[in-house]
Amino acid sequence: MTRYLPYGDMEKLLSLSKRRGFVFQSSEIYGGLSSTWDYGPLGVELKRNVKEAWWRSVVVSRDDVVGLDAAILMQRQVWEASGHLDNFSDPLVECKTCHIRLREDQLETDVCPECSGELTEPRNFNLMFKTFQGPVEETASEIFLRPETAQGIFVNFNNVLNSSRKKLPFGIAQIGKSFRNEITPGNFTFRTREFEQMEIEFFVTPGEDDQWLQSWLKERYDWYIKYGIREDNLRIRKHDDSELAHYAKETYDIEYRFPWGWGELEGIANRTDFDLTQHAQSSGTDISYFDETTKSRFVPYVIEPSGGVDRATLAFWLDAYDEEPDGESTRTVLKFHRLLAPVTVAILPLSKNEKLVPLTKTILDRLKFKFKCQYDDSQSIGRRYRRQDEIGTPFCITIDFDSLDDHKVTIRERDTMHQSRVFISDIVSVIEDKLEHNW
Ligand SMILES: [Zn+2]
Repeated sequence: MTRYLPYGDMEKLLSLSKRRGFVFQSSEIYGGLSSTWDYGPLGVELKRNVKEAWWRSVVVSRDDVVGLDAAILMQRQVWEASGHLDNFSDPLVECKTCHIRLREDQLETDVCPECSGELTEPRNFNLMFKTFQGPVEETASEIFLRPETAQGIFVNFNNVLNSSRKKLPFGIAQIGKSFRNEITPGNFTFRTREFEQMEIEFFVTPGEDDQWLQSWLKERYDWYIKYGIREDNLRIRKHDDSELAHYAKETYDIEYRFPWGWGELEGIANRTDFDLTQHAQSSGTDISYFDETTKSRFVPYVIEPSGGVDRATLAFWLDAYDEEPDGESTRTVLKFHRLLAPVTVAILPLSKNEKLVPLTKTILDRLKFKFKCQYDDSQSIGRRYRRQDEIGTPFCITIDFDSLDDHKVTIRERDTMHQSRVFISDIVSVIEDKLEHNW
């Protein structure tokens, strides 16, 4: 597929986003809530497709990974055991003059960058959101919104092991919201305080952890390529010792070339037996694995591929954005992978002529339970094709007056703009075939 832009332009994407309904600012009519975003009609379809592609890849198509959907709210002790209550914080300083709060580790001077005022000593600021369970607002009822989905998996290790009868190596996958009270969020949906994660905790026999880390790194890198990110815009970066998390033995980031620079899409970490051991000690529950072949009992090591749903969605979207010369003008087209596109099939009657309406409705009714469809009958067919290109719809079906006699419609493909006539009775199988085998 020919591509013209090396990567997406943020300003153009934001304009398209608002105009066509991908992402809106949260609480916009009240002036918005900073760094908080809502996915609109097209954005929600794109994001659902990203999650579906991930789930299909790591759960449905593998027999060594099962799914889980744990609650956001968890026992306070979970976060004591995991180390989040003590360690999950940023050093914060406050300006004594203008009272702005800043992250000490991001400061380049020792005075306030806003007013040159004197700064306080750094204080650790925990990034977990607090709330209260029940009607009494006291420390005993204080709980946290989870800062990662991973702990919901670790504390369910015994439940899943005993109910699924899995043998090592096996994994537990989960998609869900997490919350971090970031001091400096930003860059649109890249860094937000409320975000969605897609995480796998893959349990292995100690000693096999290094090879499984490499295997998952390759698997996850290939997934981004398969669904449309160009290799030039993707890279793998190993964490050096100073940036390793307190639980990690080795970590790699898969990074995307965002318009503002390289940024993390997904981390693949070797968390060793840290979490299971911590929860075993803290809860007094035996969390271990008995290997039938070696007759030994041990705590498994964990390889964790942890991706951001919002970041992946943004990266697929940015990388799909293209503008190509089209005669005198320019064609804006989102070259989404066909399985990620928010709308799969556009149904376009050539005109609003009432003779075309019944046939168009029949076709729409036949397709809408199979594919995400959009019906559009306003303005010229050329302009409607452009509107579909702009949101990345891979297939347009046009019903014209010949269709009434020859029982055929025109299928137009987004990338090549190639058009062909197919029998109405064959449309479903033709599109299913293209979805399975096209790029
Ligand atoms: Zn100041």
